[in-house]
Amino acid sequence: MIMVHSDDKGLVLPPRVAQTQVVVIPVVKTGDDIKAVQGYAEGVYNELKAAGLGVAFDDRENYTPGHKYNHWELRGVPIRLEIGPQELAKKEVRCCKRHDLKWKQNVANVELPKTIKALLEDIHNEMYDKALQARLSHQKEVDNWKDFMAAILERNICMTPWCGVRACEETVKEKSKEESLEALQDNEDETLLTGSAKTLCIPDEYKPLPASACCFHCGKKAEKWALWGRTY
Ligand SMILES: [Zn+2]
Repeated sequence: MIMVHSDDKGLVLPPRVAQTQVVVIPVVKTGDDIKAVQGYAEGVYNELKAAGLGVAFDDRENYTPGHKYNHWELRGVPIRLEIGPQELAKKEVRCCKRHDLKWKQNVANVELPKTIKALLEDIHNEMYDKALQARLSHQKEVDNWKDFMAAILERNICMTPWCGVRACEETVKEKSKEESLEALQDNEDETLLTGSAKTLCIPDEYKPLPASACCFHCGKKAEKWALWGRTY
């Protein structure tokens, strides 16, 4: 599954796709022991880098921490580590997840590469599950033309028993286009969209097709499950 994610803060990259997986940001203000915090943060950066992680160290001066957070959020970096005087004092780092901006947690700086790798794995799984749920919530299983068109008009994708014949698919494309245009004329509902339906894929993994299953469209013996969606 190709995952393309973003939100109103910018890109959200899955950990296995992101070149920079972690960004380390020293968080200091006037009056702090800036050098000590910078040194501690740089040590964290070096340790993660040595462990083979894709890591960036943002110690740019003249930029506020908030500006740096936005900078890296926009680029979708999965984990941000914030390191300030409190983290230095407790030998901790503050972890923030890009895909779940509310999640923040301080972790001890002990075997940190191991902790970060486990966190990246968690993020991968969370993002995968979320994408799968989003897809499944728009997927309907139907076995007849009427239900198929109703589901397609409501912007779903449809899993159907299908004969697998190209001519049948061509007719589905034409009929779905005509009927969606008619539905649009009959109905002032602006959430309806026109477009013809076509097969998106023949799934490898789906439940077995019942032996008696008929093509949702032509009624002949079904040979496979097919997933249908619109083209625009
Ligand atoms: Zn058919």
